[in-house]
Amino acid sequence: MTLIPSFVTRFAPSPTGQLHLGHAKAALFAAQQAQGGRFLLRIEDIDLGRCRPEYESAIIEDLTWLGLTWDQPVRRQSAHLRDYETAIGKLREQDMLYPCFCTRADIQREIHHAASTPHAPPQSGPDGPLYAGTCRNIAESVAQKRIEAGESFALRLHMSNATRAAGQLTWTDIEKGHQIAKPDMFGDVVIARKETPTSYHLACTWDDALQGVTLVTRGEDLFAATHVHRLLQHLLSLPTPNYHHHTLLLGSDGKKFSKRDQAPTLRALRDSGRTPDEVRAMVGLVVRF
Ligand code: GLU
Repeated sequence: MTLIPSFVTRFAPSPTGQLHLGHAKAALFAAQQAQGGRFLLRIEDIDLGRCRPEYESAIIEDLTWLGLTWDQPVRRQSAHLRDYETAIGKLREQDMLYPCFCTRADIQREIHHAASTPHAPPQSGPDGPLYAGTCRNIAESVAQKRIEAGESFALRLHMSNATRAAGQLTWTDIEKGHQIAKPDMFGDVVIARKETPTSYHLACTWDDALQGVTLVTRGEDLFAATHVHRLLQHLLSLPTPNYHHHTLLLGSDGKKFSKRDQAPTLRALRDSGRTPDEVRAMVGLVVRF
């Protein structure tokens, strides 16, 4: 008899809109990959400006309609902001963070400035042009005064210090195999936003470890983010799960489904009479329960 290993997997949507077929694929894929183990639901609602409780209720309703069940309790990130402060404290102790006072306009100005400098073209990363490092070398005493004066600030990772301290890190994607972590392509990523004491990278990495996730499944659009997550795992002494980045569903225009371009929502499909079985077949994942 061959024993199939069981995993802890999760589906981690952000309640910023209705779920569409792409989400159905991600959720069904994660549930399937648990292979009889534990499947978790995590609500990533740290973007307080964009997340809405009614979208969270709709997520639960849609997933239940699809036939999914998950281990309780559901972790809602906005209820655990103190946890992320602990993580930030650990990074601060290692001197890996610095306050960044730049506004979006400041950042744009720096990027334009770099673009017009012939010898220093702006570098680009997976999320667009890299932060120019404007606040990286502000003296600690000066930064402290600005903070005490009430200036708002984000916390950025000092990427070159962090990668130097970490040395070579690796991780494994089930499809693409052994990976050497290249977090530096993101530059000095934001670890805590001005308006929220955390960020996607920090909250996601921390929670995957805290919840004992052993296999992170998500769309391949987040493949690059895993390089940063691997670095954070090292700095925070967290275990490294395996990863399985799956292909994205594409619309008829060949582009990925997204909330922005009105991809068919699960609710609309349900209202038009589609059954859960039909939706599972549409995303190519018939999960046996
Ligand atoms: N919350 C993220 C999203 O909705 C997914 C995060 C993840 O799976 O790592 O895009």
